[in-house]
Amino acid sequence: MRLKHVLILAFILLSSVPMLLSLQYLNSFTASQYERQTEEQLSALSLIAKKRIESVLDRVKDNIALITSRTQMRISLDQWNNARDVKARNKVHKIINDAKVGLTKLHSISIYDNKGVLVTATADTPNGHQINIPVDKILPSIKLLKRNDQLLMLGIDRLLLNNKVIGYVKVALFADFIVELVNDRTGLGVTGEWLVAQRHDSGDALFVAPLKYDHDAAFKRRVSKEKIDIPITQALLGNERIMRHAPDYAGNLVIASTRYLSELDWGLVVKIEEDEVSQLMNKTKTVIYVSEVIIIIMAVLMGVGVSFYISNPLEKLASHTNKVAQGQFEQYPRSQTWKEVRDLTEHFNYMISSMKELNENLNAKVAERTKELADLNLQLTELSTRDPLTGLHNRRFLSEKLSEEVSRAKRYSSPLTLVILDVDHFKQVNDTWGHDVGDQALKIISSHLSSVIRESDVLARYGGEEFCILLPATEEEQARKFLDRIRMDIEYLKIGSGEKCFSVTCSFGIAKLDDDDTESSLTKKADLALYQAKSDGRNCIRCYSIDDIGGA
Ligand code: GH3
Ligand code: MG
Ligand code: MG
Repeated sequence: MRLKHVLILAFILLSSVPMLLSLQYLNSFTASQYERQTEEQLSALSLIAKKRIESVLDRVKDNIALITSRTQMRISLDQWNNARDVKARNKVHKIINDAKVGLTKLHSISIYDNKGVLVTATADTPNGHQINIPVDKILPSIKLLKRNDQLLMLGIDRLLLNNKVIGYVKVALFADFIVELVNDRTGLGVTGEWLVAQRHDSGDALFVAPLKYDHDAAFKRRVSKEKIDIPITQALLGNERIMRHAPDYAGNLVIASTRYLSELDWGLVVKIEEDEVSQLMNKTKTVIYVSEVIIIIMAVLMGVGVSFYISNPLEKLASHTNKVAQGQFEQYPRSQTWKEVRDLTEHFNYMISSMKELNENLNAKVAERTKELADLNLQLTELSTRDPLTGLHNRRFLSEKLSEEVSRAKRYSSPLTLVILDVDHFKQVNDTWGHDVGDQALKIISSHLSSVIRESDVLARYGGEEFCILLPATEEEQARKFLDRIRMDIEYLKIGSGEKCFSVTCSFGIAKLDDDDTESSLTKKADLALYQAKSDGRNCIRCYSIDDIGGA
């Protein structure tokens, strides 16, 4: 993997960091939130339960007040106290029986005389039953007891007549609502539980309702008052609070909400095991951790995807453009990648084919133009080395050829002869026949010379009416013979027409290349020889000789 891919991957992973941090924060936030919610829920539930018990308490008090307020009943009881009048007792009995009819959940109403001995009751109660008057408590006194497997809420109050205690009333209500309360574990999960306890004579907490895992706990099971870290003990101590990591009566660690009912001297606890709460939190944590792992995997996949599906094809495409820039118009191979990259490849290939076509057209045009230019150049070169009037090579061309041939002749020690010929009295031709005819004469002579020389010979117009013939591999004598024939031929060339027909003669100077000759010395020698030919009467051939000419 290349550095670039590592960087892309690192960038994408880095971009997922805020999300991971948010999840991490959410994780811790959710955990604390969940704990707080559990605590608030327990607190709310315990408060509702407390209110519910207090409302039952109020009902008991109302029921007691209903009896204590009966004046007729109190008068009859007073009569019974004073005279043991059976009628009076029956009257009391009738009144409490009447009162019983309108009361729900009522178990019994009992009336006791001023000594605390039973007078009458709505339920079966043994005659002479003595009431246990709670002297240390402010009346009305209310307490819970279990009788024949029934929970009863007992309320006891004084009966007063003219501010004198004439007896006591005891109202017993069925307290099955306590059982209903502890059995309703809505919102308490699997391990949630209600605990209701009253203070035992020993000071311990005595459960008054069945426990979830101990149905016979009511009025049997106790928690020692010494164990003050147990929620029910705290409740009975009057501490209403949320307890965490607290051991319950069975030793399990719980989160608990404690309530205290002062009038009954009861403790109320609602609790849920900590393991259950942490298990639920762990579930949430697991979901969040899994999400984090998924995010990281997705980030890695995205990085790899971006690298291999976008960056790589683009990079290859870019390197392919270098090939195109170097003139290799190959199509870029289509690969299975993201649509955008495929589209780009298609456009790129279209561009390459257009460029290729354009380039081919351009190349063809350039080749055509180059050929035209080469031809033109050739023509120009040709023109620059040709004499326009006669079409023969000019003096410049001759001097180039002379230089080449001199070198070659010296290198191979081969003979080389240079001839200069000059039209005799040409000025007169012009003067007599006109310049145009003079031109014509020059053309005719040129044409003839061209037709007789060898391919290896070089013929050039040297000056106005002077011509040069360079004869490679030709001895002087050979040249002389060859030129003599030419000289005669020229003599017979017809120039002009009709009456204006005439002929011209030429004089020839020949020079052969000697070892110490240069181009200019050779030319000069030929020129001197020509001069000699003119001097000797024209229409003749002279060879350069140091003896004949050199000294002249
Ligand atoms: P000689 O025999 O001594 O060579 O005498 P000549 O008259 O030929 O020599 P001269 O040098 O006195 O004259 C050369 C003449 O050639 C002069 C010039 O007008 C003529 N001439 C030179 N070039 C051309 C040309 O291209 N066309 C024509 N018609 N005449 C030319
Ligand atoms: Mg001349
Ligand atoms: Mg002349």
